[in-house]
Amino acid sequence: MAEDLWKQFADDWGPEKIIHIYEPRLPLRAIVVIDNTALGPAIGGIRLAPRITPEEVFRLARTMTWKNAAAGLAHGGGKAGILADPSLPRIEKERLLRALARAIADLKDYIPGPDMGTDEASMAFIYDENGRATGRPKVTGGIPLDELGATGFGLAVAAEQMAGHLGMSLVGARVAIQGFGNVGKAAARFLEKSGVVLVAASDSTGAIYQPRGLNVAHLTAIKEKGGRVLDYPEAKAVDPAVLFGLPCDILVPAAQPDVITPANASQVQAKMILQGANIPITPDAERLLHERGVLTLPDFIVNAGGVIATSIEYRQGTVPQAFAAIQEKIRENCQAVLRLMREKNLYPREAALHLAQSRVREGMSYRRRF
Ligand code: NAD
Repeated sequence: MAEDLWKQFADDWGPEKIIHIYEPRLPLRAIVVIDNTALGPAIGGIRLAPRITPEEVFRLARTMTWKNAAAGLAHGGGKAGILADPSLPRIEKERLLRALARAIADLKDYIPGPDMGTDEASMAFIYDENGRATGRPKVTGGIPLDELGATGFGLAVAAEQMAGHLGMSLVGARVAIQGFGNVGKAAARFLEKSGVVLVAASDSTGAIYQPRGLNVAHLTAIKEKGGRVLDYPEAKAVDPAVLFGLPCDILVPAAQPDVITPANASQVQAKMILQGANIPITPDAERLLHERGVLTLPDFIVNAGGVIATSIEYRQGTVPQAFAAIQEKIRENCQAVLRLMREKNLYPREAALHLAQSRVREGMSYRRRF
């Protein structure tokens, strides 16, 4: 059993540290995993959830190792988990976050960010304790990712690279977006600047379709006032289940994981899918789509706008610097993955993982070996 545990948590990449933090008086129960820091200090969120295991924190930390390396950031991967109820009163949550921040004050190779159950204010408390956290409120020198639409901007940059690969024009291309939230709204706004027309959008209450085009600013204003996509006038309400099969050129799943599966992948008419959400397409559906000639690059390549902005915030950079970095890195990384796909005849996800792993391997080759 003990041997199995060692095998489960140790392979050629890491993790370098697994730290168990227990403060019975609060009680604070937390795990911090620093997976691999060959490329730089680990960046990764703090998840606060009622059920969280060391194994889950380890898997999330490993994902961050690949995501940061694939994004071309000088950062390794790490993650933290606090075992607690996210609906705790604000003061109780603050107490736990501050205690965690003090406990990891000397763990300089881990830089926390927000994740499920934590937000900008949580990061401000951590920063106040130990001077190390990203995704903080603007007044504290943070870069508010969602307000600025960092991830949606990155998706629009990826769309340009992918359109170039397909020989397709974005001017007049039609897009359908699942999940008109932070990522979906910003993707619509930035894609519109490239000439793309929004024809369908959904949220958790329903879906709308208008082949002549929806007004992005108007729909965004409705959502920002607390409305639903169904409140948009002059559009047809459609069954959300048919959204991915609507006539359009680009699909943007920007809500939930595993929404495109082998069961609905054959209905896709679009030529390109931009993975705004994390793991919105199952790996087998990704392969089916690739074989049908539908281009979709992995989530951790195209939706990295947020984490790229985070790394700029860590360096006390400005908002224009964050946007310039997103543009440059997503453009380069899409091109690198497309090149690897062509040269080595790989699936997009294989190519992206190859890219991330070769960067981490090179970083590891410069580390002290004796
Ligand atoms: P959000 O909560 O702002 O928006 C999510 C939207 O999806 C909401 O409009 C919600 O109504 C809608 N939705 C929920 N379930 C739905 C369903 N079944 N069908 C249609 N719509 C549904 O969240 P967000 O920040 O935009 O994040 C969206 C996804 O993108 C998440 O998977 C998140 O992990 C991922 N992501 C976000 C960022 C970021 O910078 N915010 C970065 C990378 C990845």
